[in-house]
Amino acid sequence: MRKISVFGVGYVGLVTGTCFADQGHQVTCVDVDEPKIEKLRAGIMPIYEPGLEEMVRRNALAGRLRFTSSYSEGLAGAEYAFIAVGTPQGSGGEADLQYVRAAADGIAEAMDHPVTIVNKSTVPIGTGDWVSDIVRRRQTKPVNFWVVSNPEFLREGSAISDFLFPDRVVLGSMEPEAAAQVAQLYLSIRAPIILTDLRTAEMIKYASNAFLATRISFINEIASICEALGADVKEVAVGMGYDKRIGPQFLDAGIGYGGSCFPKDVQALAHMAAVHGCHPQLLRAVIDINRDQRRQVVQKLRSVIGRLDEKVVGILGLAFKPNTDDMREAPSVEIIHLLQSEGAKVRAYDPVAMPNAPLYLRDVALCEDAYEVAEGADALVMVTEWNEFKHLDLVRLKAVMRQPVIVDGRNMYDPEAMRALGFTYRAMGRGQAR
Ligand code: NAD
Repeated sequence: MRKISVFGVGYVGLVTGTCFADQGHQVTCVDVDEPKIEKLRAGIMPIYEPGLEEMVRRNALAGRLRFTSSYSEGLAGAEYAFIAVGTPQGSGGEADLQYVRAAADGIAEAMDHPVTIVNKSTVPIGTGDWVSDIVRRRQTKPVNFWVVSNPEFLREGSAISDFLFPDRVVLGSMEPEAAAQVAQLYLSIRAPIILTDLRTAEMIKYASNAFLATRISFINEIASICEALGADVKEVAVGMGYDKRIGPQFLDAGIGYGGSCFPKDVQALAHMAAVHGCHPQLLRAVIDINRDQRRQVVQKLRSVIGRLDEKVVGILGLAFKPNTDDMREAPSVEIIHLLQSEGAKVRAYDPVAMPNAPLYLRDVALCEDAYEVAEGADALVMVTEWNEFKHLDLVRLKAVMRQPVIVDGRNMYDPEAMRALGFTYRAMGRGQAR
């Protein structure tokens, strides 16, 4: 049993802390957001993540998982201090490190015994060295500390199993013994452990996210070409995916990537590259293609129902992907803003993200279900591929719409079946030849 503190109790911090507690460690989670800490103490989840509530409750009851907003309480006796605060996009595309800085300051001031500081946040290359400097300068008591980079690769919606069964664990440090010590925490997890230096560990995270985003923009570019030439990108992706050198994952054409990681991480990597004299032309193209996918949806709508002013458009799905309530950088938000700027009236529904909608959207009629969204709509746009949208009663849906038009941003339906049902159906990259 080890004593661990986790600073930042968001999607990553809460899952990390809870999973370590579940493995028998003593974990204290620290967040500056006091209402969030109060909620967690009362057993109320601040986020939606499958399986998390039960796991938090069980470990809190067993006394292995605690929540506080006090750094000194959180750090008391801890051997490891994980930093899992947000690193959002700054105004110039760079990663904004103000929360990492505040966490490093807080740890330095509260530290009265040797601690291994483990950074889980996605941070620009060189941040580990910078955190070391901050802690050294801000320490009130001269105790030893080590800094290890341990980037996180979990995905919202499957965060617990991603944490417990990762493809790999990356640990980077300038002191190999420190990284090896953190590796002890992952012994029960059967995954390759990559021990490397700080900067390389930080870069592995950015390079991985940028590569996945590149695959998405690549298949979206192929989708546009398919559409122009009468081929079907869904079948193209299947045909490509059987090639072992390519693989089937991240080849779903659609409205592009979103969420709290890919957009900001690709931007931050491009920004870092440019600042250091590199010319990140591929990353820039990945970002441009992604932006275009949102515009394509609106163009498709216009091409079918004409001018959008005063038209009623229904949006199915607000979360940036299924099985999460996260709407940060969600394609829905950008698409809705584009529609509203052209005068459309927007109705929307999402199975779990509705409570977050008012944080990102205005003047949107939030509905109880997909059928209510469809009432009187001139068109529906499929934005998030929730399972419940795959099994809708399409006849019932069509019956309540003003015009039976669907723009399917996630290629969820069969174009021929939709046309047979009487819909004017537009998908992404599925040529008219079919
Ligand atoms: P989040 O916004 O959900 O949570 C961040 C938490 O940090 C918030 O609760 C906030 O109140 C807290 N915080 C801010 N300043 C603090 C401080 N000084 N001390 C203590 N707590 C503080 O963020 P997230 O989605 O969990 O992401 C955290 C990091 O992990 C980011 O760098 C992100 O890029 C990375 N990451 C996220 C995911 C993901 O799927 N969300 C996956 C892998 C990596």
